[in-house]
Amino acid sequence: MYKAIRIHGYGGPEVLQLETLPTPVPGRGEILIRQEAIGVNYIDIYFRTGLYKVPAFPAILGMEGAGVVMAAGAGVTDFEPGDRVAYPTALGGYGECRTIAADRVVPLPPDIPFDIAAGCMLRGLTVHMLLREVHAVRAGETILVHAAAGGVGLLLCQWARHLGVRVIGVVSTEEKGELARQNGAADILVGHDNLAARVRKLTDGAMVPVVYDSIGKDTFVASLDCLAPHGLMVSYGNASGEVTGISVGMLATRGSLYLTRPGLTTYLAQRSALLAGSRELFDLIVQGVLTVRIGQRFGLPDAGAAQTALESRTTTGSTILLP
Ligand code: NDP
Repeated sequence: MYKAIRIHGYGGPEVLQLETLPTPVPGRGEILIRQEAIGVNYIDIYFRTGLYKVPAFPAILGMEGAGVVMAAGAGVTDFEPGDRVAYPTALGGYGECRTIAADRVVPLPPDIPFDIAAGCMLRGLTVHMLLREVHAVRAGETILVHAAAGGVGLLLCQWARHLGVRVIGVVSTEEKGELARQNGAADILVGHDNLAARVRKLTDGAMVPVVYDSIGKDTFVASLDCLAPHGLMVSYGNASGEVTGISVGMLATRGSLYLTRPGLTTYLAQRSALLAGSRELFDLIVQGVLTVRIGQRFGLPDAGAAQTALESRTTTGSTILLP
């Protein structure tokens, strides 16, 4: 038997229930992992509220984790019991153990602790996607980054600085601004008001070639207004709600803009992409270029409190559960 957090319907944090379940048996191509640390990400909240749909109820939330292989199902050749592993995007993470398709898991190097892995697999690979794939940033570029002190945000600031990119970070408080600065943001804007005017001032009128917007509904139009002609709007999250009702003409009138809505699952669909991105991420952590800040740690039974903290904007860096 093992303990996991399940939901039987969409709703507030109260739908997250701690339950005792029979230990699962790995099927063909799967492994069973004893989880040492579990990531809590904004996407978990979208799945809890029903903005994103789970395949069926009851469902175990959580996309990201790290631990030790306990058993391997038929046909698994890459992993064996005792191996240290981690994964970024597989629903079913909030539990003391879990089964998972072996091709969605990567070997965890001995010098990366479990808590760091659970704090960076999804968020770090998202940054890899944003800065290296969605738009390959170039040294000397200036980018606008929302939620710059969040889990994705702090890693984005560090990685962008490493690549010689100037980050203008947007945050809600001075304290978060200071943290983002320490993590590589060159300039900080507190609050979303008059965003375009403040970006114009910081860029001497040039505006920015790329905006990374994870806030969604509340900031979408303001973010478009910060772009230089032919600029790229990367709308990659919905922390304030989903963006709806876009007219493509909005892109024309603001200077022939580009718009993309990337999802990490698509970018990691090929196992080769998952392995290559993870290798790059782990290398940068080992080299000390990236430091994963675990801002909040909760016990597994407190998954609801962890999500409430994330939703209420009181967290910085990554949030994890320790089973
Ligand atoms: P964060 O740690 O960044 O937390 C969310 C932050 O968003 C808050 O701390 C807050 O920062 C800011 N925010 C602004 N407005 C709101 C609001 N109305 N409600 C709540 N928060 C708000 O979370 P994560 O690092 O887990 O994720 C960051 C974003 O990246 C999320 O939107 C997530 O969906 C997205 N994402 C997308 C992926 C993809 O594949 N497309 C993959 C991974 C993450 P502040 O107080 O400074 O405003």
